[in-house]
Amino acid sequence: MYFNRSNEFPRSAEVVVIGGGVIGLTIARALGQRGVRDVLLIERSALGTEASFAAGGILAPQAEADRADEFFELACRSRDLYAEFAAGLFDETGVDVELDSTGTLYVALAEGDELEKRYAWQSKQGLAVKKLTAREARELEPHIAPSVAGALLFPHDIQVENRRLLNALVHSVNELAIKVATHTNVESLTIERRQIKGVQTSRDFVSCRIVIIAAGTWSSLIEHANTPTIEPVRGQMICFDAKPQLTRHVIYSPRGYLVPRKDGRLLAGSTSENAGFAKQVTAAGISAILANAQEISPNVANLPIVDTWAGLRPRAADGLPVLGPCDEIDGLFYATGHYRNGILLAPVTGELIAEAVVAGHVSPSLAAFSPNRFNLAHVS
Ligand SMILES: Cc1cc2nc3c(=O)[nH]c(=O)nc-3n(C[C@H](O)[C@H](O)[C@H](O)COP(=O)(O)OP(=O)(O)OC[C@H]3O[C@@H](n4cnc5c(N)ncnc54)[C@H](O)[C@@H]3O)c2cc1C
Repeated sequence: MYFNRSNEFPRSAEVVVIGGGVIGLTIARALGQRGVRDVLLIERSALGTEASFAAGGILAPQAEADRADEFFELACRSRDLYAEFAAGLFDETGVDVELDSTGTLYVALAEGDELEKRYAWQSKQGLAVKKLTAREARELEPHIAPSVAGALLFPHDIQVENRRLLNALVHSVNELAIKVATHTNVESLTIERRQIKGVQTSRDFVSCRIVIIAAGTWSSLIEHANTPTIEPVRGQMICFDAKPQLTRHVIYSPRGYLVPRKDGRLLAGSTSENAGFAKQVTAAGISAILANAQEISPNVANLPIVDTWAGLRPRAADGLPVLGPCDEIDGLFYATGHYRNGILLAPVTGELIAEAVVAGHVSPSLAAFSPNRFNLAHVS
């Protein structure tokens, strides 16, 4: 049920989820699927319009990983949940999120050594990775640049159409009778004796005992939420019209990437900028993306540009996600700081946070991402 600007607003809920991006929506759905009856999702503007809308939808934990650490484990686990996640959403909503398992190609330009190392550790661990000569890479992708010296193919890395994913999640949440309040800002949390009592919003107070902060790059701006600092890292994107499509795989280089969509759009990304909360597209950003895209495939130069945009990636101080309960405040959970991988990490975040809320069980796989790794302010 939707509570927009004009109808009556709920004054209480069992669980309040703050933020209607891919993370908040996935958690709300996971709670609904586990039988939590009274979930209220509160979104400041419209659902799915921020970083989750701006993303490329690349689900490629292997392509950029240089070691097998806890983050790599979590990311691979989430990637491997995607087939079931997408199928479930299709059954519930009829929306095809265009999961594509063609694989990811990482091309070597001057940086062949880095790829050698990546190939060495991943193949030693028995992970699916294939080393291609320049000729083999070109047979696979005829439009890549003559300067490509070789490539790694990661056949298990996939991609999703993230805007379709958001659409599917919105429908699913609706089917599950999750309450959704859009155009409603959560200003502060109300805490008494270290226990959540409710949230103060721009419309009214909502009483609740559990709050999940999934407000992306704005998470640490909510008063009394004690959230570790989350900073915006701007990413710009260019969208080309590429019919017929220029590539079949998602193609990475050390400086950029190309993402082919089924409908003929070709995305090129991205930048990584500390520009505060300014979400502009800039001339410098666009020219860097264009140069990096043409380095992968000079044929990009002939494609019409049909769109450009920018989004703000939510980054914690150590670049890792912030997931789990707050030791200082009972009933408060964080699911933020997903930085460059929030689309990838959505399914595992939904599962593990819902499990922590419903069963009170915090998975050991969340230990490395606990909010309590930061020195949270003491609450009395
Ligand atoms: C250019 C770009 C490319 C990317 N490519 C990829 C990729 O290929 N693969 C990948 O996995 N990830 C990618 N990412 C990262 C990914 O987009 C993010 O990690 C992910 O979207 C974070 O999701 P979120 O739900 O936490 O944040 P958002 O989608 O930003 O959602 C947060 C929501 O919270 C709302 N909100 C904030 N404050 C409040 C408040 N006080 N009250 C109510 N609502 C509030 C906001 O309005 C917003 O809707 C990319 C990001 C960018 C910018």
